[in-house]
Amino acid sequence: MREILKEHFGFNDFKPIQEKAIKEILAKKDILVVLPTGSGKSLIYQLPSLMMDGITVVISPLIALMQDQIAALELNGIKAKMISSNNTAQENAKTISKLQNKKLKFLYIAPERFTDNFISLLQNVEINFFVVDEAHCVSEWGHEFRVDYRKLSHLKVWFKNTPIAAFTATATKMVQDDILQTLKIDKNNLLRAKTTRDNLYITVRKRGSNSKEQIVNFLNKHKNQSGIIYCFTRNETEKLSAFLNKKGFNTKAYHAGLPVNEKNQIFKSFKNDEIDTIVATIAFGMGIDKSNIRYVLHTSMPKTLENYYQEIGRAGRDGLMSYVLLLYSKSDEIAKRAFVEELEDSEYKQNIYKKLHQMYRYASTSQCRHKFIAKYFGDEVDECKSLCDNCLKEDKPTVDITIEAQKFISAVIRTGERFGQNYIIDVLRGSKSKRIVDFSHDKLSVYGIGEEFSKEQWAIVCERLFDVEALDIDSEFGSIKINAKSKQILKKEISVDIAKEELEIKKAPKTQKSSQPKDEIFEKLREKRASLAKEQNVPAYIVFSDKTLEEMARKLPKTKEEFLSIAGVGEAKLKSCGDDFISLCKELSIAKPKTLGKTYLETLSLVKENKTLQEISEIRELKIVTILHHIDKLSQEAFIDKETKESIIKPLKQQFPKEIKEWIEQGLKIEDIKTLRDELSKYLYLFMPSQDITL
Ligand code: ADP
Ligand code: MG
Ligand code: ZN
Repeated sequence: MREILKEHFGFNDFKPIQEKAIKEILAKKDILVVLPTGSGKSLIYQLPSLMMDGITVVISPLIALMQDQIAALELNGIKAKMISSNNTAQENAKTISKLQNKKLKFLYIAPERFTDNFISLLQNVEINFFVVDEAHCVSEWGHEFRVDYRKLSHLKVWFKNTPIAAFTATATKMVQDDILQTLKIDKNNLLRAKTTRDNLYITVRKRGSNSKEQIVNFLNKHKNQSGIIYCFTRNETEKLSAFLNKKGFNTKAYHAGLPVNEKNQIFKSFKNDEIDTIVATIAFGMGIDKSNIRYVLHTSMPKTLENYYQEIGRAGRDGLMSYVLLLYSKSDEIAKRAFVEELEDSEYKQNIYKKLHQMYRYASTSQCRHKFIAKYFGDEVDECKSLCDNCLKEDKPTVDITIEAQKFISAVIRTGERFGQNYIIDVLRGSKSKRIVDFSHDKLSVYGIGEEFSKEQWAIVCERLFDVEALDIDSEFGSIKINAKSKQILKKEISVDIAKEELEIKKAPKTQKSSQPKDEIFEKLREKRASLAKEQNVPAYIVFSDKTLEEMARKLPKTKEEFLSIAGVGEAKLKSCGDDFISLCKELSIAKPKTLGKTYLETLSLVKENKTLQEISEIRELKIVTILHHIDKLSQEAFIDKETKESIIKPLKQQFPKEIKEWIEQGLKIEDIKTLRDELSKYLYLFMPSQDITL
């Protein structure tokens, strides 16, 4: 198994669960594998197929997904084809004849392909096993139900003795049971990993009145990288994309209203790294296997956590750190509720409301985001500690807003619980609008009692009251209602507070210094990859993933053996593009030593000996902060990878609160301050690497 892993796929080790799942398949068992995005599910069925005589039939919901998989297999020297309505009749006929003559290892098809004719055709072929990819499409409880997937319940009738291997990344326990039952897979044959992604950094923020700046600030941190921005409406995608292009970003809008040709063209350019950012509705969804998506930004709340998880899951398939940001507001929930308001009351409708509300709870929670998501899918995981905004949020200073909350709630009551947020705020701020005068609300005791806050600040107070469930929305009219909790606040039985930062609406700093240009060596390799991809007419990330390219940039292999030792390089790729890359690496390594001084290289050699930060500092008789500077430089110049850097600085992160706390408790002395300065700069360094910190 390991030989095949290296020879055909270029990897040196299995990822968790892969080996176990492959053994099950080789033992001809049915299995359902539930593994997060990017865990390498494809390899689980591809590798054992190479050890079997017959053909493996892969059922997949989307042509784009199939195309990518096939391109990747072919580049690895493995014969795969698809039969689809996209191909001409001749092409499909040719594939069928290859199938019958055992000239294929993989056949990809959509579930609607199972006509009587096709079934009897397959019955006369030696099939290793069926793969049902994206198996959550089987379930009505999932978020991407497909009627044709339901028919796969007949697979075991049509092909009694052919095993089934089903795969999905997103399945609540309910969906999981549904898949097992539909495909008739024994529940003991389930392999499930916890729903968690350790290379996604999750941030959720209230969408402020300055949302465009929030977006620009986020994008500035990811210049020249691939990413997706999800918007709610088509119109928003076009407006935002135009705005961002003016700001110098390379984006395109994408939605279901565009002509098919244009959509395909955009999709292709994105895959080929010619467009950095796609600003899309959720129409830009399944079928994106692009592995180097570095960020996903939602400008409003998705309908369900399943959708959200699937959408953020598109980031970081290659395992490198990726960043996701959700901008939300209470109004998102209300806007989305409006879509189903007309439906008759039913379990279905209630279910939609429930899911929507869960999504809102997620957005407004102060718990670990990863933990919250895992729990939603029925898994218990520990707090991530360092991969979400909530875990990293140190105790933020808060302010008491009980009085403002009381004013707001009073205004809701006095105006008869018949109005929305804006109207209430206008009353509080003493607006002279005609409506207010017409209703004689300018005569109310609450009129004009809220001039101390701006409109935006009142909106934040209102959001906060929704967050703590001290206000409700009338589902029919969208007006704000009070509830038991509002009354408790009025009676001062409970107080309300809010993070100080949230209430201080300061303009986000003007565009930050854009992130450093990526390492030159990496860029050179990236260019080479792009030109090879173009020649072979496949997306760049299929030639090599970013992860493989990073390793190459670090090691600069100069021989075939060195090249082959890189994860992601197998025999086929050595043959097809080894010479190109090796000669480029040789050129690059001549240029390389100039860039780093001796002192960095000395630190580097200690890093390579797995010495800790402390040890390196002692051995080199240099301050830790100096060593940190070296580490940062080494990482920027791709001498060490991000994981190494993380593992070196990790112990520092863990120490932080304890040490500082102790010092303060013991009472700082003047002579300590010098030490403190050095210590502090080292911690500050964690959060602001590559900046000069002078205290
Ligand atoms: P999934 O379908 O689970 O989302 P994929 O099958 O698309 O994931 O694989 C995600 C990425 O992981 C791909 O770039 C793939 O080449 C890579 N990968 C798969 N198996 C391994 C492995 N054993 N070692 C390193 N990378 C791997
Ligand atoms: Mg997959
Ligand atoms: Zn967390």
